[in-house]
Amino acid sequence: MEEVDITIVGAGVIGLSIAAQVAEDNRTVFVIEKHDSFGRETSSRNSEVIHSGIYYRPGSLKAKTCIQGNRILYEICEKNNIPYKKTGKLVVATENLEICQLESLLKNGLENGTPGLKMLEKKEIKQLEPDVEAIVALYSPSTGIIDTHKLMEYFISRAKDKGADIVYNSELKGINKQQEAYEVFIRDADEEDFSFLTRVFINCAGLNSDNIARMVGIDIKESDYTLKYSKGDYFRLYNPGRWGVSRLVYPVPEAEGVGLGIHLTLDLAGGIRLGPDANYICKEEIDYNVDESKKEAFCQAVQKFLPSLKIDDLYPDIAGIRPILKGHQDDFRDFVIKDERDKGFPGFINLIGIESPGLTSSPSIAKYVNELING
Ligand SMILES: Cc1cc2nc3c(=O)[nH]c(=O)nc-3n(C[C@H](O)[C@H](O)[C@H](O)COP(=O)(O)OP(=O)(O)OC[C@H]3O[C@@H](n4cnc5c(N)ncnc54)[C@H](O)[C@@H]3O)c2cc1C
Repeated sequence: MEEVDITIVGAGVIGLSIAAQVAEDNRTVFVIEKHDSFGRETSSRNSEVIHSGIYYRPGSLKAKTCIQGNRILYEICEKNNIPYKKTGKLVVATENLEICQLESLLKNGLENGTPGLKMLEKKEIKQLEPDVEAIVALYSPSTGIIDTHKLMEYFISRAKDKGADIVYNSELKGINKQQEAYEVFIRDADEEDFSFLTRVFINCAGLNSDNIARMVGIDIKESDYTLKYSKGDYFRLYNPGRWGVSRLVYPVPEAEGVGLGIHLTLDLAGGIRLGPDANYICKEEIDYNVDESKKEAFCQAVQKFLPSLKIDDLYPDIAGIRPILKGHQDDFRDFVIKDERDKGFPGFINLIGIESPGLTSSPSIAKYVNELING
């Protein structure tokens, strides 16, 4: 039976960044993807923000990979003509009660090493963003936006240049541990089944990553790997030029929430998006339609800091689904990025719960996985 060195399942931004990192002339690397192209799921349904690392628990993989990923992404964009903009971002307090939450956020960001953070008073906020109403803001200059599609294309070309193959229309159907390798069962677009052996298996299957961990024989309940899905809807604004907002504007995040609160982001074409919100959904009901009846709630949330906004300025945009480990009871869950050696599966590397800031963290996660492979 044919044997390859490394098989990566999932051609989203995580699988592709890992392929670009681990591919080497003397290694056979395959990326297996069930869709007919790359980035068809979460990697093309997000805010495209290069986060700066203020929110995540100090010492966590989320914090470390976000801070490192932020720096590497700007370098990659600069060197490879990938469209991006270092817009900066304001997290705004619109009520006195929120000021101490902003101060804790500042403390957390400083502990994580987020560069350039500072508090701004009302007058300074007005100077930067005349249309934004807030009493205090936390300013993060290293936040930006990126063309994710172009980033994924860059990872693909880098992976292919180093000899990796990306195979579309191929769905992983099963995986069995053998003596020194894993047998991987694939179904192609013609419903033909085939299998091969791989020395290392990397699970980057996003929303499906817990199922794939189960396929090899890992007890996902016991390991606490069961994913929940949290849907985020977006609305877009007609006539975005009307507001002249040039930075991303976020509210103070909800203490127990999954998302960062309904915020205002810019895209590279000059558009303005509001969202995403965050709602747990049933895993069997993946539906990317945006619920238009939320328009009023979105408008009210953003009016707190952009009072000139009117409900008729909004129209539905896209939705994305977060693969999250955090349940209602948890205060924080980190990314799972792990060689499952201790469970009896050496060389089986799980990446589970790669929600935000996964896009930002992608090049740093790739380096981390490469270290796991190289021991
Ligand atoms: C609403 C929202 C907003 C976000 N905003 C940001 C942001 O602004 N900044 C940021 O840094 N991060 C953000 N994120 C997080 C970021 O988008 C994700 O962390 C990242 O896209 C995850 O990439 P991935 O490759 O793990 O998953 P995906 O892009 O979902 O890729 C997984 C791939 O695996 C494939 N697959 C699954 N099962 C199989 C199988 N059996 N066989 C073959 N292929 C399979 C799928 O088809 C898919 O292509 C956001 C996420 C959401 C949902």
